[in-house]
Amino acid sequence: MSGGRPAVWAAVVPAAGLGRRMGFDKLLAPWHGSPVLAHTLLGLRRAGLTQLVVGVRDAAAVRTAVLEPFGLEGARLVPGGASRAETVARCLEALPAGVTHVLVHDAARPHCSVALIHAVMDAAEREGAAAAALPVVDTVHRADGQERIAETLDRSALRLAQTPQAFTLELLSRAHREGRSGSDDAGMVASLGVPVHLVPGAPENVKLTVPADLPAAGGEPMPWAVGLGHDVHRLVPGRPLILGGVRIPHELGLLGHSDADVLAHAVADAVLGAAGLGDIGRHFPPDDPAWEGADSLLLLRRCRGLAAAAGWRPAQVDCLVQAERPRLLPHAGAMADNIGGALGIAAGRVNVKAGTNEGMGFVGRHEGMAAQAVVLAARQGPV
Ligand code: MG
Repeated sequence: MSGGRPAVWAAVVPAAGLGRRMGFDKLLAPWHGSPVLAHTLLGLRRAGLTQLVVGVRDAAAVRTAVLEPFGLEGARLVPGGASRAETVARCLEALPAGVTHVLVHDAARPHCSVALIHAVMDAAEREGAAAAALPVVDTVHRADGQERIAETLDRSALRLAQTPQAFTLELLSRAHREGRSGSDDAGMVASLGVPVHLVPGAPENVKLTVPADLPAAGGEPMPWAVGLGHDVHRLVPGRPLILGGVRIPHELGLLGHSDADVLAHAVADAVLGAAGLGDIGRHFPPDDPAWEGADSLLLLRRCRGLAAAAGWRPAQVDCLVQAERPRLLPHAGAMADNIGGALGIAAGRVNVKAGTNEGMGFVGRHEGMAAQAVVLAARQGPV
C-alpha cells in the first residue's frame, strides 16, 4: 500500500547492455528454445506484472523476435541509454500514469520464479525498498592488486545482489534524479540513506553472462529420444515359442538363428533406434555363431549397454506382438517383467500388447509372427 492507496505496479527491464562479455546480443539468443528476453518478460507477466517497460538498443529486432511471437505487444519499448542507470532512468520517464511501485529486473535473468518476484514486491510494499540477494557460500579474499591474498573477508555479512529489486516510484525516481552512485538500483536507493530490505534470492536465478551460460549454437541437447523397432519370424514345427523371454506352449515355434524371440528383437531394435545406433542387424549379424540359439533377453541387455555408452537410458516401452494364435494376453505381464528387467525399466513403464491379424496375410495364415515396439529413451550423464 502507498499512502493508503493500493499499489499500482510496473516492471522496468533494462535490456540495452552491449553483452561485451558474451560477444553477441545474448538477450535475443535462444535459451530453452526461446529468446532469453522472452523468458524474462513472460516470467514477469506470470507474476501479474502487465505494465512492462523495456529499455532496448534495437526496438525493431526486439519487436520481431520477442514481443510479436510471444504475445507481448503490450510491452513499451524505450531507447536504452549509455549505462544501465541511464536506461532505467529513461524507462522511469516512460512509465504509464498512476504507477506507484516499480520492480526492476535484469533482462539476462530469465529463470526468476514467480514466488521470488512476489516476495520482493511484498517487501517493497511493506518497507518501501527491497532487493533479492544471496548469502555468500564461497570464501572471499581481497586481492592486493597483484593477485595475491591481502585479506580474507568475513563472508557472514556479505550478500550477492540479484534482481528483482523493487521500490516505490518516488524513491527510485529520487535516486535516479539525484544521480546516486551504485552499480544497481538497490545500491542507488540505499545511498539515499533509505533502508533497502534484503529478500533471500534464488541460486537458480542466475544472470547469463558468458557464452558458456548459453547452450551451444543449435540449441541445448534434447533430453528425450524415441526409437521404432520391427521384426518378423517364420513359424515352424520343432522349435520352442519364446516371446518376451517367456516360453509359451504351442505346436509351432519361431525359426531363427537365436531363440527367434520376435518381440525381444523388435524392442532391441527400438532401443538402438532411440540411441541413434542403427538396427540390430548391424550390431548382431545373423551369421554370428555367438548368437546361435541365444537368449534374446541377453541381446536386449547388450542393447541397453550400447545405448548407455551412447548416452541414452531406455525409460518406457510400448510393444505389440501380432500372432493369430495362441492366446498371448495371459503371458503379457511376464513378458513385460522380462523386458523391463533386461532394460532396467521400472515396472509399469513396459506395456505389452497382443493382437491377431484378422486372418489376413502371413500372420493371419499362421505362417509367422510380427512384432513392433517404440522405446522412449532419456539422456543420461554429461553431454
Ligand atoms: Mg529377429
